[in-house]
Amino acid sequence: MTRPYNFSAGPAALPESVLLRAREELLDWNGGGTSVMEISHRSKAFVELAAQSERDLRALMDIPDNYRVLFLQGGATQHFAQIPMNFARPDQTADYIVCGAWGEKAMREATPNVQARVAGSSVNANFTGVPPRQSWQLDPAAAYVHITPNETIHGVAMHTIPDVGDVPLIADISSNILSAPLDVSRFGLLYAGAQKNIGASGLVLMIVNDDLLERCPSTLPRIFNYAEHAANGSMLNTPNTFGWYLASLVFQWIAAQGGVAELGQRNQAKTQLLYQCIDESGLYSNPVDRDARSLMNVVFTLADPALELMFLQQSQDAGLLALKGHKALGGMRASLYNAMPLEGVQALVGFMREFERRHG
Ligand SMILES: *Cc1c(COP(=O)(O)O)cnc(C)c1O
Repeated sequence: MTRPYNFSAGPAALPESVLLRAREELLDWNGGGTSVMEISHRSKAFVELAAQSERDLRALMDIPDNYRVLFLQGGATQHFAQIPMNFARPDQTADYIVCGAWGEKAMREATPNVQARVAGSSVNANFTGVPPRQSWQLDPAAAYVHITPNETIHGVAMHTIPDVGDVPLIADISSNILSAPLDVSRFGLLYAGAQKNIGASGLVLMIVNDDLLERCPSTLPRIFNYAEHAANGSMLNTPNTFGWYLASLVFQWIAAQGGVAELGQRNQAKTQLLYQCIDESGLYSNPVDRDARSLMNVVFTLADPALELMFLQQSQDAGLLALKGHKALGGMRASLYNAMPLEGVQALVGFMREFERRHG
């Protein structure tokens, strides 16, 4: 069986070998005669999986010892609201840099729990870039600065980690985690929903500096308190065990590919191929500033919007799935997460050139 190439923005494609292994282990995981989702999260076997997956992630991302790794429930959206509950007071301000729809949402959800301010935004450029660092109006007294380094819907990326002084930097890396090397020590907190580059939805990874965890108010309900989750090894209550298991398989897969640096190079090569196809074409165009183009989500429009439906239908027939852009933006979007092989991008580029030759 050959499977189609799935360009879905999220939930997104998983490496085929991970799916095959999960299938193989579904009836009998680890020799116990059950699947991993049918056993106690407190069993020795699961606790070992949890510990090993954390070690694997620490090695992949080179996470310093003074950071905790949490495997939480929910989605990034839940944590948009929960982050200020833990790291700010309602009377404090927090600075948000907004380069797309997710940064906007993060700010909106945070608002009841902190006075969220826009400290920099590219909204006036229709989110086709990153506002220059010199234009940001940061408040040194802010509780934290929040960025979204990869804007999944607008296809915009912040390729350098900004210097924000002594204020903790918090980043939603839902759609770029593990896609290229990242200096964790520059951040107070990194968090990501799993369904783009890691695995199943319903799991959120959080990498948080010990100092920041000390801010978590003891007045919070324990279930919302990140320090409590850290103190309990992310097992304050039943975690998303199957999601955690899939994540552990993906971490092993990344290590087997040669690690994050290797994937970063492959991702560069993949996106370069697609952006080059778009830039050379008279039919397709990408609106994003060259230095802010995403390596994960490539958005493009067709010069004649009347061709879009045909493009979508024919690409799907050719085994290229889920190229429709987000409803907020229209156009097309190809998401090229770690699990997308170069061959998938080559197939897409081949299809696009042929489509342009026939209809452009
Ligand atoms: C997909 C995505 C989210 C939303 O995640 P949910 O799990 O739906 O809450 C948030 N931020 C970014 C950058 C995303 O790509």
